[in-house]
Amino acid sequence: MQNKVGIIGDIIHTAYLCGGVVLQTFWEQEFKCPVCAKTFHSIRVFSDAIKIKDRDSDLKPTYDGVNALLFQPVTCPNCLYTTFESDFEASLSQTQKELLTKLCEKLKTLLSVDLSKERTLKDGASLFTIAAAVYSLLGKHLRAAESYLKLAWIFRDMNNHTEETKAITGALKHFTESYKTEELSEDQQIMVLFYLGELNARLSNKKEAVKWFSTLIQKFGNSNSVYVKLARKEWQEVTMRK
Ligand SMILES: [Zn+2]
Repeated sequence: MQNKVGIIGDIIHTAYLCGGVVLQTFWEQEFKCPVCAKTFHSIRVFSDAIKIKDRDSDLKPTYDGVNALLFQPVTCPNCLYTTFESDFEASLSQTQKELLTKLCEKLKTLLSVDLSKERTLKDGASLFTIAAAVYSLLGKHLRAAESYLKLAWIFRDMNNHTEETKAITGALKHFTESYKTEELSEDQQIMVLFYLGELNARLSNKKEAVKWFSTLIQKFGNSNSVYVKLARKEWQEVTMRK
């Protein structure tokens, strides 16, 4: 049984009670892997089940209940090809397929990942590591940057400061490339400029952080974007740091 958006509809878990009504946390969606052509079901999280109780200054969410971040990537259980959901079934050229097959074969020897609903922070770190490698190979800098950023968030939850710093450095490299070379919408430019400021601030590159926050405010100061509001606050904080 499958409807036109590929929803299988198997409710595989009921996780919490809300006002006496049982709400479902997980469901399964069918995908076809563009690399190895296998069809599989991926565990997704209902948006109603996602509760964010707090955010860090770089907008890293802390969840109440299921850690939805761990379920954001879609991964082929056969070859481990991994991207964000909206990109997963995008068509690939023959050359891209061959390069990705080689990449995934190599990653399979290095990583083992639990794709069940019981997945851990370590599994999540593996998934975003694969996604970052896939997007880097495809030359999609904004998506590679987002993968590294989310990898950094997972390492923060694991209290692994060294790996978090490495992931932030990877995110910065790709946000920089994206800003220089990719065609970005206004919303994307705002987000990229915010992270160029914020991640430089996190790496104690004060001068660079101030440069990017001021560029954001100069170019998009009139925008109502949450990134612009945050940038003003962060800019002040960085400027006051010794
Ligand atoms: Zn596959």
